[in-house]
Formats: sequence, C-alpha cells, structure tokens
Amino acid sequence: MDAAEPVEVPGPPRDEQLLAGLAKLGQAVRMSAWRNAGPYGLSPLQADILAFLAGDDRPRRQGEVVAALASTAPTVSDAMRALTGKGLVSKARDAVDARASVLTLTDIGRQEAARLSAVPEPLRAAVAALDPDDLAAMLRGASAMMRVLQERRAIPISRMCLTCRFYRPDAHPDDPARPHHCMFVDAPFGDGELRLDCPDHEPA
Ligand code: SF4
Repeated sequence: MDAAEPVEVPGPPRDEQLLAGLAKLGQAVRMSAWRNAGPYGLSPLQADILAFLAGDDRPRRQGEVVAALASTAPTVSDAMRALTGKGLVSKARDAVDARASVLTLTDIGRQEAARLSAVPEPLRAAVAALDPDDLAAMLRGASAMMRVLQERRAIPISRMCLTCRFYRPDAHPDDPARPHHCMFVDAPFGDGELRLDCPDHEPA
C-alpha cells in the first residue's frame, strides 16, 4: 500500500454514528428538563410551553402552541390545564375572535420561564468543552439539518437564520471569520453566531 494513501477505518457509517450521537444529546437535554422540574413540578412539555409563551410575550392561541411544539391538541390541552391550575398561565377571551381564547403567562409564570431559561450546569459544561471552531461547525451543521427537516415537515418551523429574510449568507467573502450578514441589525457575522431561535426572525 502507498504510504500516503488514506487508511479506511472499518466501522459503522458516519451518518449512523452522527444520528446516534444526536439521539444521546437529545436524551441528555430531556433528562435535564425532568431534573429541572423546579418548585411547580413541571414536565418537559409544560416547561416548553412556558418557554414558548415567554418567547415574544404576546397572547397565543392553543393551536399556535400545538404547531410550535409539534404536539397534539389533547396533549397540549392537558398540559395547559395543569399550568393554569398551577397559576402559571391564564386564559382570556381573544380580542379578535370572541369564540376563541388566548393564553398568556401570569407574573409567576414569567418568573418560572426566566428560571427555566438558565442553561442547566451539565449542559453548560458540555457546550463549554467545545472550542470555538467546533461550536461554529456544530451550529452550521445543526442549521443545515434543521432546514432540511423543516422543508420535509418533520419538525416545526423555527426562527433560525437559514430561513430568515434578513439573512445574507456569504455576503462578505473576503472575511472568513464573519462571512454572513444580518440585514436586521445590518452587521456581518460568522458561523459561530448563527441563530437557531431568534426573536427578530421573519420568514424568507
Ligand atoms: S434577524 Fe435573527 S434570524 Fe434573521 S438573520 Fe438576523 S440574526 Fe439571523
């Protein structure tokens, strides 16, 4: 064999290994959510609902919650009943359609959402272990995978740069550290600053 020839390492395909790794990371996030149930004993879905309602702090219909969390109406309905029972969410008549109701966070719901927004220590430590290049590569890869999954309707639409009308990829080819441009803030940025959930996102 030629000494310069790359050696093929036998083993399972890399795509399978990547998916196995992503499944483990998802498991870690889920386990962390169960451990972070807090004083109100929140399930991961209840915590996701609070985070969603805290997203832009405007009243939401239950259907919006179902769509955003890729859940089902009965499941969200149960979770919502639990959250209103705990005093974290309030229900009111929709000002636009009197037959519908809208959901908002109460003051203690907002406080609980703020508590949940802090990244739990084990996950923070795991992310901190990445060097900046690896972090940027993971954000780039996660964005690309999420875009394909959204196009195939396998996950709900999320507010990420790759689907945003303000995103200009590779607008600055002479600046490898910050090749992209955000028209919303009118500033260049790099892969390490790609957003997967941006409050200023508008669909392209
Ligand atoms: S507004 Fe947000 S999502 Fe859109 S390009 Fe700028 S940073 Fe990305």
